[in-house]
Amino acid sequence: MSDPGMEPLTRPYYDALGRGELLIQHCGSCGRDTMYPRHRCPFCYEAELGWVRASGAGVLHSFAVTRFGAPTGFESQTPYALGVVKLAEGVQVLGRLWPDGDGGWGAYRCDAPVRFRPASEDEIARRPVPWFAVVHQ
Ligand SMILES: [Zn+2]
Repeated sequence: MSDPGMEPLTRPYYDALGRGELLIQHCGSCGRDTMYPRHRCPFCYEAELGWVRASGAGVLHSFAVTRFGAPTGFESQTPYALGVVKLAEGVQVLGRLWPDGDGGWGAYRCDAPVRFRPASEDEIARRPVPWFAVVHQ
């Protein structure tokens, strides 16, 4: 039995992060956006999913700051923050949060706006996740 695997599916997403772009999947059949990456559209079940560039605007749904007790391989990065961001396109992604002006994450609030702000190509090569920054209002 052949296994299509996730790597070919997710390659465009990670390649775009390395270029400083945030992509989401878009269905060419029903026109809806979706994330996480899938082989078939969760709305119409057609295999017409392609990639489109997201606006980068979103709202922080939830987040957590890890100060100690990080998973294996992440110990040297503490403190760091992970958040679930609901993008303006209506899909959610998991990402890292840039420290705010005070070097922490005190400026972040749930339901407050955040914006995609790319990390360096080297950082993305090591830890391929989208990065978001607080939007000061
Ligand atoms: Zn569809």
